Amino acid sequence: EPIDLSVPPEFKTRTPPYAALLARLEQARKILDRPFTLAEKILYSHVVDPEEAFAGKNGNIRGEVYLKLNPDRVAMQDASAQMALLQFMTCGMSNTAVPASIHCDHLIVGHDGAESDLKASIATNKEVFDFLQSCALKYGIQFWGPGSGIIHQIVLENFSVPGLMMLGTDSHTPNAGGLGAIAIGVGGADAVDALTGTPWELKAPKIMGVKLTGKLSGWSTPKDVITHLAGLLTVRGGTGFIIEYFGEGVEALSCTGMATICNMGAEVGATTSTFPYTDSMKRYLVATRREPIAKAATAVNNLHGFLKADEGSEYDSIVEIDLSTLEPHINGPFTPDLSTPLSRFGETVKENKWPEKLSAGLIGSCTNSSYQDMSRVASIVQQAKERGVKPKVPFFITPGSEQIRATIENDGFTDIFLGAGAKVLANACGPCIGQWARDDVTKGEANAIMTSFNRNFRARNDGNPDTMNFLTSPEIVTAMIYSGDMGFNPITDKLIDANGNEFLFAPPHGDELPTNGFKQGDLNYLPEIDPAPILSTEVAVSPTSDRLALLEPFEPFDGKEMKLSVLMKVKGKCTTDHISAAGAWLKYKGHLENISNNTLIGAMNEETEEVNKAYDFDGTGYGIPELMIKWKDEGRPWVVLAEHNYGEGSAREHAALSPRFLNGRMILCKSFARIHETNLKKQGVLPLTFADESDYDKIKSCDTLETLDLLQMLENEGAGPGFITMKATSRDGTEHIFKAKHTMSKDQIDFFKAGSAINYIGNLRRA
Ligand code: SF4
Repeated sequence: EPIDLSVPPEFKTRTPPYAALLARLEQARKILDRPFTLAEKILYSHVVDPEEAFAGKNGNIRGEVYLKLNPDRVAMQDASAQMALLQFMTCGMSNTAVPASIHCDHLIVGHDGAESDLKASIATNKEVFDFLQSCALKYGIQFWGPGSGIIHQIVLENFSVPGLMMLGTDSHTPNAGGLGAIAIGVGGADAVDALTGTPWELKAPKIMGVKLTGKLSGWSTPKDVITHLAGLLTVRGGTGFIIEYFGEGVEALSCTGMATICNMGAEVGATTSTFPYTDSMKRYLVATRREPIAKAATAVNNLHGFLKADEGSEYDSIVEIDLSTLEPHINGPFTPDLSTPLSRFGETVKENKWPEKLSAGLIGSCTNSSYQDMSRVASIVQQAKERGVKPKVPFFITPGSEQIRATIENDGFTDIFLGAGAKVLANACGPCIGQWARDDVTKGEANAIMTSFNRNFRARNDGNPDTMNFLTSPEIVTAMIYSGDMGFNPITDKLIDANGNEFLFAPPHGDELPTNGFKQGDLNYLPEIDPAPILSTEVAVSPTSDRLALLEPFEPFDGKEMKLSVLMKVKGKCTTDHISAAGAWLKYKGHLENISNNTLIGAMNEETEEVNKAYDFDGTGYGIPELMIKWKDEGRPWVVLAEHNYGEGSAREHAALSPRFLNGRMILCKSFARIHETNLKKQGVLPLTFADESDYDKIKSCDTLETLDLLQMLENEGAGPGFITMKATSRDGTEHIFKAKHTMSKDQIDFFKAGSAINYIGNLRRA
């Protein structure tokens, strides 16, 4: 039965094309002929051509079929947007194929407080912000400037919608699943697929169902669902899965609470996480001025059941969590899956000899700065105030957006926080991403902090590898700062008030949404809803900049068998951090030549066991990138040999871009991390694995490697995984013939021939 899913024009680009999605879902359903989970419905309805994708298949295709998807929207944060946009610019398009937004949040420090930190950060990063803004103007992208808020909070407030499929150039993009979207974190080259309207490829993920029963109460919060789940699954447990929540426990969760849960699905390696449509999602859409979208979502769900799993659909695995008995958890240090229930935390601190005193408490960030979070925190701070008690350690608050900042100010929470001596930082990432300019602890000093953030890798917050970051709910962080003692349990332990009397905090309470409505704050932050591209805009890149440089397209494949010199053999673990170090190098994310000076500086040379050392033909030793540059200048293409799981860690695309830029044409290893292997293919580097791992030992640095039947493989486009015959010639002339495996699909062969995926897309657009 046809239903009216139309929305007023100003909501059109923010509403998923429900009617078209339903039609494609029907095609998928006819072929696969089985009930779908919610995640499958959203994904399969975004498949470009379900009839082609699923032809000849039946039943469960998860983990098998590559899906070509058309995402509805793209969001980019300032650090990763630079390379995404530089690549997009080489494709020769005059505007983006889907709506997109840029968010300036990662490059802003947390130190003195919002006003001065923002001013200083804008001054330091002016050329990057100017570049991003000029791209936004030129291509019709929404620009959310420094101070407007953190990417995921702004996406939740403005763009996330039930049934939407979006990509974001940040690993916590799944936050949008709190509003029933499928939102996936990707690298810049993947974002360019969507920005250019090129189908984006993803192997159909398996689906993990998390059944929630019961109801949260007291000190337990949505954060505890995910910190507990991280303990159960570990940091790898969600790899290859979408996590889909279901069960009666879902109904009582707030939309922002569900976003917190989805946000940290990234910590268990999940592709993304999502929730079925609930009344709280509807309330949140209405509260954030999107009532027509709420109406359309409700209609498509009520009449077609689009936003929930089909009856009888099956999950690949199921985890059950009873919210009624779930207690607060504290995770860390140094890994988000080391999960301890609050009741056992004090003894665990002692057993592990972790610092017994807390040094700071930080709340907010993209993970936990909702109105509900802030109102519940305010209820704790207010209780302490009434008792005449002050925090024992510094207390920092990072609002997730200008809307949150203005609303909590309007509702009096900010005054409550400031009255307790808290420092309210800019609406930005700040201390969550190493931009915490900390004065109270020196580098190397062991100390413990509690945060409501999502990640706690070493040195992530203040650059100090000896700062132990424990992740928990904002409510527990706040109670802890009044004790200063890591063993404090606010549920059972009393504090002494200003009159010397003992008191126990009452459990926190607060409102899901502001009774007086959300305030938008400084309207200057709000971009136009559907900005038109201004073609005449000059993109701001100074030719003398050391932070930004326009990209030159990589050379296309020359059509000949490859003949490469072995630059080095990497020994042992080689993550994307070893290949493309972060830290101070982040400054150069928009300047490929400068950031390439970090290529493989963390890698160990198998022959000498030295880090960042490679040797030229005459025995002269160089830093690894130095030798790459030398060989590039000499016109000598090279290959690096490596061991298992090469490129594990993140989707950092510079780990593929930099080797390619320095004339690396092949990585030959024992096995790859999947995302990195794909990134190499996208940049025109040929990733191969040894058919027989012992061949790794038979080849040395400065040997020559040749492909013998690469051309045949390239001609058999679409042949899928197969073998390439290789010849290694040592410096004394000994030859060794062996086989290497490839996993190149037809599309990836096209990328390789064109020189890179971006070249290929650019060629298509210009044709
Ligand atoms: Fe990433 Fe932290 Fe910023 Fe969230 S607040 S987007 S986790 S850096």
